[in-house]
Amino acid sequence: MILEAVDLKKYFPVTGALALGRAQTWIRAVDGVSVQVGEGETLGIVGESGSGKTTLAKLFLLLERPTAGSLRFDGKDVATFGRADVRRYRRSVQAVFQDPFSSLDPRMRVEQIVGEPLIPENGVTRAMVRDRVRESLELVGLRRDSASLYPHEFSGGQRQRIAIARALVTTPKFILLDEPVSALDVSIRAQILNLLKRLQDQLGLAYIMISHDLAAARYLATRLAVMYCGKLVETGACEAVYTEPLHPYTEALLSAALPLHPSARRQRIILKGEIPNPTNPPSGCRFHPRCHRVLAECSSVEPAWREVKPGRFAACHLH
Ligand code: SF4
Repeated sequence: MILEAVDLKKYFPVTGALALGRAQTWIRAVDGVSVQVGEGETLGIVGESGSGKTTLAKLFLLLERPTAGSLRFDGKDVATFGRADVRRYRRSVQAVFQDPFSSLDPRMRVEQIVGEPLIPENGVTRAMVRDRVRESLELVGLRRDSASLYPHEFSGGQRQRIAIARALVTTPKFILLDEPVSALDVSIRAQILNLLKRLQDQLGLAYIMISHDLAAARYLATRLAVMYCGKLVETGACEAVYTEPLHPYTEALLSAALPLHPSARRQRIILKGEIPNPTNPPSGCRFHPRCHRVLAECSSVEPAWREVKPGRFAACHLH
């Protein structure tokens, strides 16, 4: 495995509670998540906004430190990393974010933007940066002379290609894709997803794709992890999860997102209410106030995480 999260937790203190004489309370943004991603594989992490996906992404990018649990890179716990290991991690693990309009500095030329992750490295000359930037631009289907232009001279899809070129410039093993096509016109999304797929095949990259867009996740993901209120509720091979969801939350997300075939027996399920406040999640199964299959024990007993079928895991009393 390239990257592995083991029972990863991130709790944020609720500010002001102690000052008001109340016991310290915590926002349990990520609450015991275990996932793995191997070479050439794409793990899709899906869920509504507020499910903890973004905090999980920050943990992977070392922008937050976990409250508990561990993150392993090439089998080594990130918490034990020295400076050299952290530098190696930052070169090997890159990210592409949702909005190519705000993620590229408008005052910098493409050369600087794409080459920036290489600058702190010892022994890297300007000529080497220039060559590597141009190679990265070619990899994403942009002309080598694009390097001298500014971001505003490109369309939205081209800007996302620049962001991908920047992620590739350090020859990473792993790229975190945080809603990589959500801000783009529908007509451009397929082009960027195709590009990401081609780059993965060509370079053996591993991806984690964080998305609320289940159709986009299906296009790239080999395995899928569904998150709800800081926890995983289901994981499995992508097509198996899409064809036969085990958890009612996955079932509801799929029924809302993907067009139903006229002959499909699947019913459209309306998800009631909002994702709960992670400061005070519901007792038992966190999904029980919104679940269309709720059982008597669901409000008091937390369902165990178990292998329901070979390679298919879920936390639900139905299984
Ligand atoms: Fe629904 Fe109960 Fe399963 Fe939770 S454990 S998803 S409430 S059936």
